Amino acid sequence: MGDASVGGVALLAERLRAARSAVALTGAGISVPSGIPDFRTPRTGLWANVDPMEVAHVDAWRRDPARFWAFYGHRFQSLRDKRPNRAHELLVELERRGLVDAVITQNIDRLHGPHGELIELHGSIASSSCLACGRFYPLGEVQRRLDEDPQGVPRCDCGRPLKPDVVLFGEYLPQVALERAQSLAVRADLLLCIGSSLEVWPVGELPALTLRAGGEVAIVTQGPTRYDGDAVVKLDGDIVADLEALVAAL
Ligand code: ZN
Repeated sequence: MGDASVGGVALLAERLRAARSAVALTGAGISVPSGIPDFRTPRTGLWANVDPMEVAHVDAWRRDPARFWAFYGHRFQSLRDKRPNRAHELLVELERRGLVDAVITQNIDRLHGPHGELIELHGSIASSSCLACGRFYPLGEVQRRLDEDPQGVPRCDCGRPLKPDVVLFGEYLPQVALERAQSLAVRADLLLCIGSSLEVWPVGELPALTLRAGGEVAIVTQGPTRYDGDAVVKLDGDIVADLEALVAAL
């Protein structure tokens, strides 16, 4: 670790201690050490040549649930045995110490928590719902129904295909979660962005809300983001090592 990074860690520790309200914003990068590849990593295997924009689209779920679930079931399977990694644990530690008030995430992998407020902007694989009658089912039960259905479609007791409680392409974000994330970003003295390239709306807009309201933005993410120039601290190293150093410096 170079001097710049050591200085950055010390500065971030100081800003975090000084903040009345610090909020974390996380993206795919925090789940990479759990073995979940970033969405932009080239895909391999069965679905290598499939466009998720097409097959994981809400229209695909409506039109052809069997094809949708063939794809999404594969995704479930690749996510359901994953465990929180050290970066998730360190974030929980910051929450436990009262240094982070809430976590806003783009991730659907349910690896955050359990501590404090969690806003899952894109939903989560933890459950699936029936849009016809409103019943919802936990992941294990969805998996069981998926395995048992002759067409590989997990169905509600009413017979309709279930939809995962994640925001599919072509769907709106959950309004309550979105408004809560925006109000947390406006209120935050420090928005701690971890493992997100901050490219995708609405996550990409949240740092601007914090900055405009007079708060600070810190970035712990490998690779450039469009807020690097506005950030009070930018840590560009290994995400676990950076967070480990941060917690040690507090
Ligand atoms: Zn139903």
